[in-house]
Amino acid sequence: MPSFINDIMDFASSPTFSTVQIVALSYFGLLWLSIIIWVTRDSIHRSSSLIFQTFAILINIAVPILGVLLYLIIRPSHTNLERYYEELEHKVLAEGGEERSITCSQCMTLVDRDYTYCPNCSTKVKKACKKCKKSYPSIYNICPYCGNEDEKEDEEPKKITKKRITKK
Ligand SMILES: [Zn+2]
Ligand SMILES: [Zn+2]
Repeated sequence: MPSFINDIMDFASSPTFSTVQIVALSYFGLLWLSIIIWVTRDSIHRSSSLIFQTFAILINIAVPILGVLLYLIIRPSHTNLERYYEELEHKVLAEGGEERSITCSQCMTLVDRDYTYCPNCSTKVKKACKKCKKSYPSIYNICPYCGNEDEKEDEEPKKITKKRITKK
């Protein structure tokens, strides 16, 4: 028998080797256990499906340590909380929230952004920009779309335009 095999055999039966083995095994075991605990918690945060949670845990029991890679691939990209906030954000955006209404400068009634006149006191709540033709709340001093400076809202814009032309 070659001497190096004898050396290996000696090492394998030596107390040093069994200590290394125990340390390595407990390290492995601890890592495995923490991965299973982490996967359990993570899968609960990410999915309310019991089947998915069980599946995630089983993968990590069946495939020690490497199972976590598999889990990272199949897990939902968002946690339940993230999804909740995202849905909330979408809801607010869809409804428009406060952005949907403007305040009437006369009676302080909240008026729908689409309205031009206050339904309560019939004040004109919106005016059209003379430069870019977009309409915006009357209380603004400049057009929020093109930055055109506001002039007092006129009832007959055509007359004013004519005046301006003749002045020049
Ligand atoms: Zn009003
Ligand atoms: Zn404008």
